[in-house]
Amino acid sequence: MHEENINSETKENDSIKPSNFIRDIIDEDLKINKNEGRVHTRFPPEPNGYLHIGHAKSICLNFGIARDYKGFCNLRFDDTNPAKEEVEYVDSIKEDIKWLGFDWGEREYYASDYFYKLYDFAVQLIKQGDAYVDSCSSEEIKELRGNPTEPGKEGPYRNRSVEENLDLFERMKNGEFPDGKHVLRAKGNLSSPNMNLRDSIMYRIRHAHHHRTGDKWCIYPMYDWAHGQSDSIEKITHSICTLEFENHRPLYDWYIEKLGIYHPQQIEFARLNLNYTIMSKRKLLELVEGKFVAGWDDPRMPTISAFRRRGYTPESIRTFAERVGVAKRDNIIDLALLEHTLREDLNKRAQRVMAVLRPLKVTITNYPDNLVEEMDAVNNPEDDLMGSRTIYFSKEIYIEQDDFMENPMKKFFRLSPGNEVRLRYAYIIKCDDVIKDENGNIIELKCSYDPETKSGSTASQRKVKGTIHWVSAKHAIEAEVRLYDRLFTDEDPGGHKDKDFKEFINPLSLEILSGCKLEPYLKDSNPGDRYQFERLGYFCADSKDSNKDKLVFNRTVTLKDTWAKISKG
Ligand code: ATP
Ligand code: MG
Repeated sequence: MHEENINSETKENDSIKPSNFIRDIIDEDLKINKNEGRVHTRFPPEPNGYLHIGHAKSICLNFGIARDYKGFCNLRFDDTNPAKEEVEYVDSIKEDIKWLGFDWGEREYYASDYFYKLYDFAVQLIKQGDAYVDSCSSEEIKELRGNPTEPGKEGPYRNRSVEENLDLFERMKNGEFPDGKHVLRAKGNLSSPNMNLRDSIMYRIRHAHHHRTGDKWCIYPMYDWAHGQSDSIEKITHSICTLEFENHRPLYDWYIEKLGIYHPQQIEFARLNLNYTIMSKRKLLELVEGKFVAGWDDPRMPTISAFRRRGYTPESIRTFAERVGVAKRDNIIDLALLEHTLREDLNKRAQRVMAVLRPLKVTITNYPDNLVEEMDAVNNPEDDLMGSRTIYFSKEIYIEQDDFMENPMKKFFRLSPGNEVRLRYAYIIKCDDVIKDENGNIIELKCSYDPETKSGSTASQRKVKGTIHWVSAKHAIEAEVRLYDRLFTDEDPGGHKDKDFKEFINPLSLEILSGCKLEPYLKDSNPGDRYQFERLGYFCADSKDSNKDKLVFNRTVTLKDTWAKISKG
């Protein structure tokens, strides 16, 4: 990770505000009372997919600035492209922003609400001689535009009269022409080294149904034409966007100056890139439509709804967004930083419980047949206020299959024939006998316990090297547990010219375990409840599939970064 990105060590709710170059610009603006001291930002998603973790960074930045400067942040749907946009996406975007902890109040806007206003602005530019209707084909337009080292050439329609332009533009709006017949273009500078200033297209004809305006319009504004004017209409003071719009800024400023309207300031920052992650909505849609994942909220996806379902907390995502900082140059953040931030947060808040994912039955031969002992287990050693709960111990228990080795390797301190191990909160047991089925698979262990070693009692001072978790067989409840891992095996799955990103999908990204044994305390878990399964990781009851009849838990994250070891070899 880049050093320069960690420009803030401050934690949330600390009195010190995070600092970054955008906040520095705002501070300077406030000093000279620019915009009468107002700070007003916006978050402008295009409703053509679910929000991902990159959007979360932009949300935290825009809403965070509004919060800290006592300003406002608008939610504005950039719905200028009728073909790809859907109401489902609008709803999911609102839900995700709320879940992250931000509130746009009454300020929910749509670029499509400004279609009339934008049309009037376009008429104004035509009347000023700053826009014209071009009837060239898109190939001809491309050809005439030149390239960054070669100036563009005037097309045959560039010098149409204002009257003719006004007439054609109105007829474009009235639906008299088929798609592609004409476009409205800004009359810029064909020899500008910035291609965006070479007569950018403002409107194209598209006979398509729009999710809000229906069939009212058949001309739709281009992003560059709609965006700055929408910012201006909403009196946005600082229009924060990602770096790819840097060379669009001269056009952003050009439109506003020609119209003579309120002038917001566009500021660009580096988008969030994460290794092992795809962050383009188009590619994420490909994963959904190709059924490579179970939907936009499949817990392996980098979408906010998937993180929520997997068990991430909004706090951990906000802290992460702050930690990666706001950079001016592109960079790649290690996914391990996000997972580390999550573990830190879950460690503080997650209730500890015991769960056995791959059960191996253990019979404690010298334990009384019908005795049940109740033991007190700490709910969270990080938080005394979380108290304790009762767990049950009896003659038959389950332990994890890999906590036993018949022929232990060196430094294996768990259970093996003739060896002892401590059962967490309970006794030290010794393995006396290994029972196998006819195929030689281990199906049960016969153990004996030392009654003098009960945890917490003064007699329990005897020490053994290993402690393992367990659940009482007759008290255990069953659950399905889904183990998630990174969706891609490659650090930069989208960065290969000769290979499709889907070739790098991790075949082991989902493992489903059924018949897992959990302590009975988990019986009443509600969807979304988070726990630490001791020694195994953090888990969350699935919000879609878990219910009273069938418990389903997602592994949110392991306790340690298992990938760090792998990459070190
Ligand atoms: P994608 O390229 O993933 O499809 P997009 O930029 O087309 O995303 P928009 O809906 O247009 O998606 O984005 C809404 C806002 O979120 C924009 O201001 C955009 O700059 C910002 N944004 C998108 N991706 C990232 C990212 N990876 N990091 C930071 N901000 C982002
Ligand atoms: Mg976009």
